[in-house]
Amino acid sequence: MTGPAAETKMQFLYALRSRGVTEKRVLEAMESVDRGKFVRGIFSDRSYEDMPLPIACGQTISQPSVVGLMTQALQLSGRDKVLEVGTGSGYQAAILARLARRVYTVDRHARLVREARLVFDELNLTNITAMVADGSFGLPEQAPFDRIIVTAAAEDPPGPLLAQLKIGGIMMVPVGQSDAVQTLIRVHRTETGFDYDEIRPVRFVPLLEGLGKDV
Ligand code: SAH
Repeated sequence: MTGPAAETKMQFLYALRSRGVTEKRVLEAMESVDRGKFVRGIFSDRSYEDMPLPIACGQTISQPSVVGLMTQALQLSGRDKVLEVGTGSGYQAAILARLARRVYTVDRHARLVREARLVFDELNLTNITAMVADGSFGLPEQAPFDRIIVTAAAEDPPGPLLAQLKIGGIMMVPVGQSDAVQTLIRVHRTETGFDYDEIRPVRFVPLLEGLGKDV
């Protein structure tokens, strides 16, 4: 991270560790990607606090510790092809890009995709492909994926996403009503089916159908 002062950076990393982000490679990735690049306007001076913040199109950039925990739970090997549903600011995709081979990220808002691409270019993150799409259908042309991460809350893990997960693959998805506390679920695809583990309570904006109106 080049942006913040050394003390701010230490506090940021301390907050991550104290909330359970302990894997070295994940912490290194989060240290190297400046969250300040993904937050605009009046909230930019709060970029290094462990809290979600508003971004364009009425959406939010996730809380850093939640980004860290979801990334950790994906158990990336460095060779993975990952799908993220819900580009938002692009911050989660940037962290994934440090730890995976290739990241596809989709959002239903064209403006968010456009702005995230500019930051990916600026940070020289060349292994991310950001696209406008309704991610509830996944990305059939690039499937199957080693890992899938959904950063918006679904009522159930979407069927097309389950179908696009490789055997041995892992998907992280917050499940529950959008106006309530949701449960972060980890899905393992096995030879015979799917195993589901409840990880922790979370709060995400809803996974919505169709494309955003700013297209
Ligand atoms: N991962 C983001 C935060 C995402 S907020 C970050 O790091 O900043 C959730 C995002 O999911 C929003 O940008 C919203 O537009 C998007 N979203 C909601 N429903 C969607 C859908 N069906 N397909 C694609 N994106 C969707």
